[in-house]
Amino acid sequence: MDRRKKYRELHKKLGLCIDCSNPARPGVLRCRKCSIKMHEYDIKKRDRKAQRERYKKMGKCPRCGKPLDRDADNGFFYCVNCREHSYEIN
Ligand SMILES: [Zn+2]
Ligand SMILES: [Zn+2]
Repeated sequence: MDRRKKYRELHKKLGLCIDCSNPARPGVLRCRKCSIKMHEYDIKKRDRKAQRERYKKMGKCPRCGKPLDRDADNGFFYCVNCREHSYEIN
C-alpha cells in the first residue's frame, strides 16, 4: 500500500477529510471545503466536456476551437495545429 493510500485509509478511519486533515462531514470522505472543491472540479470537467462536444458539432477543433478545414482536416478530429502538438499535449 502506498503512502498516500495509507494516509487516506487512516483519515477515513479517524473520520477526517481524506484530502486535508479537517474533520470530515458525516457520511462523506471529505470536509466541507474539500467537498466544495471537488464539486467545482467536477463542474469544470463537465463544462470542458460539453464545450468539446459543442465544438465537435460545429465542425471546430475540440481542443482549441479553431474551425476545421474541410480539406486539410478532413477525417481528423483536431485541427492541424493541435495534431502537430499532440505529442507534447499528450
Ligand atoms: Zn478537507
Ligand atoms: Zn486545434
